[in-house]
Amino acid sequence: MTPGVARDKLDWSNQAHLYSKRERKMKLEDEAEKYLMNTYARQAVAFVRGRGMRLWDSEDREYLDFLAGIAVVNLGHAHPGVARAIAEQASLLVHTSNLYQVPPQLELAKKLAGLSFADRAFFCNSGTEANEAALKLARRWAHENRGGAFEIIACEGGFHGRTMFSLSVTGQSKFHQGFEPLVPGVKLMPYDDLAAARGLVDDKTAAIIVEPIQGEGGVRLPGPGYLSGLRELCDREGVLLIFDEVQTGMGRTGRLFAYEHEGVEPDIMTLAKALGNGFPIGAVLATERAAAGFAPGAHGATFGGNFLAARAALAVLREFEDGKLLAHVREIGDYFKDRLRNLAQTHDLVLDVRGRGLLLGMELDRPGATAVKHCFEKGFLVNCTAERILRFAPPLIVQKPEIEALLPVLDSALAELARA
Ligand SMILES: *Cc1c(COP(=O)(O)O)cnc(C)c1O
Repeated sequence: MTPGVARDKLDWSNQAHLYSKRERKMKLEDEAEKYLMNTYARQAVAFVRGRGMRLWDSEDREYLDFLAGIAVVNLGHAHPGVARAIAEQASLLVHTSNLYQVPPQLELAKKLAGLSFADRAFFCNSGTEANEAALKLARRWAHENRGGAFEIIACEGGFHGRTMFSLSVTGQSKFHQGFEPLVPGVKLMPYDDLAAARGLVDDKTAAIIVEPIQGEGGVRLPGPGYLSGLRELCDREGVLLIFDEVQTGMGRTGRLFAYEHEGVEPDIMTLAKALGNGFPIGAVLATERAAAGFAPGAHGATFGGNFLAARAALAVLREFEDGKLLAHVREIGDYFKDRLRNLAQTHDLVLDVRGRGLLLGMELDRPGATAVKHCFEKGFLVNCTAERILRFAPPLIVQKPEIEALLPVLDSALAELARA
């Protein structure tokens, strides 16, 4: 028995009192209803341990995870390298603040600069915080370098997070309801429409923010030339280009960062989700020129890039070093997409199968929630976003047999949905 397995057993016995079968309904569903704020519609399941693609619930039932905690656990659950880094660092030093040097944070910034277009990094704790910082950076940069320009142009259907500035550039009104007034100085344009972008940029524009692939918006890929067209437009007008790679980054699309597919570099890029494989960390990466928008005191984050978070992210980056994982994502992603397309041919309700690497979407002609439920009951975690798009974002280590196991389940889920 490996030490890892022994630890799993120990965790399980330690937590059993919380999750005994008899008490499960009372303790989890009712108490969640009573004590947690009403922000999520939760499934009636509690996972208690995981390994790679697999999760086990409180009744020791096994699931295959094709969502990875919403594109977060890219290396798989309980990754030994990340677990070791966190455990080691936790018993050494967790946090001292950014008033002092934090060597692992510096090492992480250097690594990310070496792996990307960027020169400098700022660390925070989530995707919305990363975007909030990126937008503030762009505004401050433009105040000083672009005659006080302040407007941000963002895309309809985009998603950038829940804090006010990130929410204000999120192009989906359902997230805005009840939170108005939003941050002023934001304009929305249709995604994948260069003419619209050209029509909106003027001397008040500070930056354009865009996802290389819209994730929450329904796994929407822009046509070839869109991102490079935005780059040319921003260069011509002296506007900053921000790529939100919170979901597409960290190998999800088969390159470490999605912008690499077309070789179109932004001025600022945001990361979070998979950067710490589940340990909370976000990052803003920027060129020297754009990063000059910040000066001491201009922005900060108490926890940002602390010892523990930085060590987790360094352990994650190590797994990408030899390029094998990225090659695997490209190959298995193509395979998965082909298999989904095959399946789609036998189901009229499937309108499209699309995506890149292991960020795949299956667009249906009707809401997909019951298909998600069907898969869940058969032990497969998938997700539905933008109501009609089944989203597949498994850990990047997914193998063919696991994909083959999902397909018949998906087949029956789609058949059931067609009958409903
Ligand atoms: C998830 C997501 C965010 C928000 O990240 P949080 O960590 O939930 O704040 C921002 N942008 C994109 C593209 C995302 O997918």
